[in-house]
Amino acid sequence: MCGDAPPPPSGEIPGNPPGGSTGGTGLCCACPAEGDLNTNGFSNYFSTSYSHSNLLTNKGKMKITRTEEGGTVAIVKSFSLAYTAGATEAANKATITSAITSAMATWQSSASNYRIQVEQPGCKTQKLTMTYASTIVASGADVAVSVDGTAAPTPPTPGLRSFVQGGTAMTFYTNGVGDIPWTMVHEIGHTFGLPDEYIYDLTSATPAPTVTFKGASLPDKTVTLSTSAIAAATGKFNFDADCVMGRNGNGKYPEYVFYWVAIEVQKIFTAAGVNAVVKVVAA
Ligand SMILES: [Zn+2]
Repeated sequence: MCGDAPPPPSGEIPGNPPGGSTGGTGLCCACPAEGDLNTNGFSNYFSTSYSHSNLLTNKGKMKITRTEEGGTVAIVKSFSLAYTAGATEAANKATITSAITSAMATWQSSASNYRIQVEQPGCKTQKLTMTYASTIVASGADVAVSVDGTAAPTPPTPGLRSFVQGGTAMTFYTNGVGDIPWTMVHEIGHTFGLPDEYIYDLTSATPAPTVTFKGASLPDKTVTLSTSAIAAATGKFNFDADCVMGRNGNGKYPEYVFYWVAIEVQKIFTAAGVNAVVKVVAA
């Protein structure tokens, strides 16, 4: 909290209009704010008409810096690296470290199409740029990555698919399906608490599966998955979405994959006594 404004005379409500626990003005308009991320994406960021899991925790740190009408939301996530099944630090560290760094850069450049708009009572509307960064740490990481060197099985056996468990543990196959840079972008998406936007082998084509993303101060967004180009087994139906979280190799980042940022920004302001309206808007 910034302490740069003199206290108002007793009995007078600071700022205008009143709202929130401290009149909606618990922070000055350009005051920074920050918080730790520790939120299960399931139910807090989105819900699905299907479910792969019930825990997808987004851990990390968020720092908000502001000017009169702009600023930055900095998202930082730490990773630890362990090696197994033939993967070694000597052989794989550079590749994995660079995949994490470039995946964060990809999320950041995709986020540059959007701003986090903050409307704090008594302040000008602020449009904040999102930044994404990673650190590699020895222990206590937000995401523990197991770099797994298991050899790819011989086709037609399905290949190895890297995955995230619980949002905070990643198994990354060095010989997995898909190219390493894109796979890391998608898997890091899961560590932000984002769901897979595909579901395969349904026994009925109707109703089509949906994912509903919570919109912070925007209306929730429901995405109906499309029939997948991937051939389904006889009598089965596959669905996916035109999104980085929906199709292998896809490079699209719809507005709703950034809704969680607005949710967390709003939460940080609420904790500081500010009832801010927070939205994802076009840049
Ligand atoms: Zn996935």
